Amino acid sequence: MIKVMKFGGTSLGSGEAMDRTSDIIKREPAKKAIVVSAMSGVTNALIAAMNDSETVPRGMVDKLREKHLQAATGRMDENNMAAFQVRLDDRLEKLDDLLEFYHKKEDRIMIQDAVQSWGERLSSLTLTYILRSKDVEAVPMLSEEVGIVASGMPGNGTADLAATSKNLMLTIGPMIEEGWVPIITGFYGCERLGRPITFGRGGSDYSGAVVANGVNADVLEIWTDVTGFMSADPRIVPEARTIHDMDYGEAAELAYFGAKVLHPRTIEPAKRKNIPVWVKNTFKPDAYGTKIFSMKTAGTTLLRSVAMKTDLSVVKFYSSEIAYQPSLLTKILESVNANGVSTYAVSTSLSTLAVALPSSSIPEVMERVGMLREDIESVTVKEDMALICAVGDSLLENTGVAAKVFAVVAEIGANVEMISEGASDVALNFVVPSSRAIDVIRKLHEMYIG
Ligand code: ADP
Ligand code: ASP
Ligand code: MG
Repeated sequence: MIKVMKFGGTSLGSGEAMDRTSDIIKREPAKKAIVVSAMSGVTNALIAAMNDSETVPRGMVDKLREKHLQAATGRMDENNMAAFQVRLDDRLEKLDDLLEFYHKKEDRIMIQDAVQSWGERLSSLTLTYILRSKDVEAVPMLSEEVGIVASGMPGNGTADLAATSKNLMLTIGPMIEEGWVPIITGFYGCERLGRPITFGRGGSDYSGAVVANGVNADVLEIWTDVTGFMSADPRIVPEARTIHDMDYGEAAELAYFGAKVLHPRTIEPAKRKNIPVWVKNTFKPDAYGTKIFSMKTAGTTLLRSVAMKTDLSVVKFYSSEIAYQPSLLTKILESVNANGVSTYAVSTSLSTLAVALPSSSIPEVMERVGMLREDIESVTVKEDMALICAVGDSLLENTGVAAKVFAVVAEIGANVEMISEGASDVALNFVVPSSRAIDVIRKLHEMYIG
C-alpha cells in the first residue's frame, strides 16, 4: 500500500499547523510520499516581490526567513534546527540572487515561474526537519530532483506523466519502498532543459496527482482546511455540506468551473490509474471527508453541488450565416485559444459565435481576432460575467432539471447570457452577470441542495 499525501498552504501555514500536519504523517502506517504547497501567503509574497523592484525583495527574503524560522522554533531538536538553518539560508540566498537577476533582465517571463516555485522549496525543508525531530525519516526533495517533467506556457504547465513516472520509479520509488518519506515540492515541474514551470495557482493538488500516478499509489489524499468536497464553497454558502462520495467526473467538472478545493487538473492523472482521491481536513483528521472515485451516482437528489467561475467575459462574433462557414468557426476558435487561453463555454447560432473567456485574456484575444476583420462583421464584449456550474445525479436522465434551475434564476431576476446543457452528463453550466452569481448559488443551494 502506497499513499501520496498532499498538504495545502493552510495545513502548513504556521508552526502549529506544521505540527498538526507532521502528526498526521507520523501516525500514517502506509508507505508514503508527501507533496507540499508553500506556507499560505508565501506565493503571493513572491509574486509581489517580482512586481516591485525597489523595496520589496530584500525585505521580503528576510520576512520569509523569519516566517519559516518561527514555524520551526520549538518544533525541532538542536541538531535538526542547526541543519535546517544552514539549508534555509542557502535556499534564501539563491532566491535573493534569482530576484536580483529577475529585476535586471528584460525577458522576465521565463524566470517568473522559478521565483514562484520558491515557497514550496522552503516549506518542504521546514516540514522535513520538523518530521525528523519526531523520528520520521523524511527527506526534502525538489521537483527537479525527483524528476517531474513538465511543458507548456509559463504559469500553465502540464506534466508529462509517462516521463515523470519513469523518473519517479528511479528516484523516490526505492526510497518509499524502504520506508523513507520524501517531502516533495508541489506546484511545479521542470522542462527538459531544467527550467521550472508552474501548474497555475493551487497547482500542488495536481502535483499530488502526478506523483500518485507516477508511483502507482493506491490512494491520493488532499489535506486542506475544510472537511472534504462540499455542496458549495462554504465561504459563500455557510450551510454547505460535505459530499461523502463523488464520481471523478463530478469533481473534475466542479473543479474546472471554480470549486477551489481542488486544482482543475487534479482528477485526470488519478483517474487514469483508478486511484481514489480523498479530500481530508487537517484540522479534523478523523472526519471522513470526501472519497472521489469511479462511481455511478444514483439519481436521488436534483443537484449535488454548485460552483462558480468569476472574472469571465462573453465575446460574441457576428457574421451572416457563420453557421454555414465551418472553416470560419474553426479560424475564430483557433485564434481565441492560441497561447493557451481557455474557453469556458461556447454556443453558436446562424450568425453568431459566443464564447466565455477569462477577462484577463480579452486584450490579447481582441488583438488576434483583429486579423480576421475581413471575415467578421462585428465583435462585442460583455465583461464581469460568471459561469455557474450545477452538478447533479445523471442530469441527462433527470428530466426537467434545467427548467427547475432556470426557474430559480428567473425568480431572482438574473439574466442568463449563455447556456451549455448536455455537453456533460453531470453538469449544467450557464453564464450570468458576476453581480448576481452569489445570489444564484445561494438560491440554488437553498432550493435543491440545502
Ligand atoms: P489548500 O491551501 O489546502 O490547497 P485551498 O484554499 O486551495 O486550500 O482550497 C480550500 C478552500 O476551497 C476552502 O477553504 C473553501 O473555501 C474553498 N472551496 C471552494 N469550493 C469548495 C467546495 N465545493 N468544497 C470545499 N471547499 C471549497
Ligand atoms: N503555492 C501555490 C499557490 O499558492 C500552489 C498551491 O498552493 O497549491 O498557488
Ligand atoms: Mg489549493
